Amino acid sequence: MQLVRPESADDAVAALGNGSRAVAGGTDLVPLVRDGIVEADTLVHVSRAVPRGIDGTRIGAGTALAELEADTQIPETLREACRLAASPQLRSMGTVGGNLLQATRCWYWRLQYPCYLHGGDVCHARAGVHREHAIFGNERCASAHPSDVAAALLALGATLRTTRRTLPLADLYRLPSDDDRNVTTLAPDELILELEVPPADASAYLKAMDRKRWAFPLVGVAAARSGAEVRIALAGVAPVPWLLTSGDDLESATPLPGTAYKVDIARALVSRALTAVGSPAG
Ligand SMILES: Cc1cc2nc3c(=O)[nH]c(=O)nc-3n(C[C@H](O)[C@H](O)[C@H](O)COP(=O)(O)OP(=O)(O)OC[C@H]3O[C@@H](n4cnc5c(N)ncnc54)[C@H](O)[C@@H]3O)c2cc1C
Ligand code: SF4
Repeated sequence: MQLVRPESADDAVAALGNGSRAVAGGTDLVPLVRDGIVEADTLVHVSRAVPRGIDGTRIGAGTALAELEADTQIPETLREACRLAASPQLRSMGTVGGNLLQATRCWYWRLQYPCYLHGGDVCHARAGVHREHAIFGNERCASAHPSDVAAALLALGATLRTTRRTLPLADLYRLPSDDDRNVTTLAPDELILELEVPPADASAYLKAMDRKRWAFPLVGVAAARSGAEVRIALAGVAPVPWLLTSGDDLESATPLPGTAYKVDIARALVSRALTAVGSPAG
């Protein structure tokens, strides 16, 4: 396998596609390549091609989670989502761009069962072990999106600038369908360059997890208030980060037998998050 380190975004894009993959911190991708779950004959290291650092409301996609967590300019929901993610070592290596694009933690997928997300016909988790899985958008694939950071950015109404377009973060994600099993809309030769993150008057991130540290979200709830408008987004509840239009949306959840408990957790955390941001609905 080859590793290349282009000096610019244009050169990185030219090196992508055709069996090559972008790598930033490598904390998600490298184990997947090592285990043969993701194939790549060339890794394109994007550390020189993608901006890093925080400039007011702009965040370079190559910024490490540890930098976001420490910067007081960053809205509280995003700082807390970073602080509660992974371990200090992983947060020092892992970038925000890579975090948004991390693969599912579903063990059927990681053990290479020929499941729906791998292009097959069946979701093995639905009939099998699915305690960590989804309560929304789970008709075909019941995986639960593992990114705390994406939920916080979704609640804040972040937009992304890529090498091709500018888009709301919500448009980066899609539910897998019969003709396309991808959960993002990013092209194979498209890079995320930076994020624009609007400030919030108040924001919060609450996370239920199996341990107090170094665990993916069973349910993560991000809330951000600007004036009277409150946005709530959830991690760990659907194959993609999930925006609620109101707390009432939880009543339309479609849990599996083993994930019904997540609805109760989500209700409690949404209520607490609304109170934390000073919403009258809290
Ligand atoms: C044990 C463990 C626990 C974790 N716990 C949590 C948790 O609790 N909460 C949470 O939110 N996350 C968690 N994570 C995920 C972790 O935060 C991510 O692995 C990390 O942020 C990924 O960033 P990276 O730079 O290492 O990405 P990489 O591994 O380098 O890349 C990940 C993906 O993003 C793509 N990519 C990277 N940068 C770009 C770019 N700029 N443009 C286009 N594509 C790009 C790569 O091609 C790859 O597909 C955990 C990870 C591990 C291993
Ligand atoms: S939840 Fe998704 S990734 Fe997991 S087995 Fe089902 S289809 Fe595959």
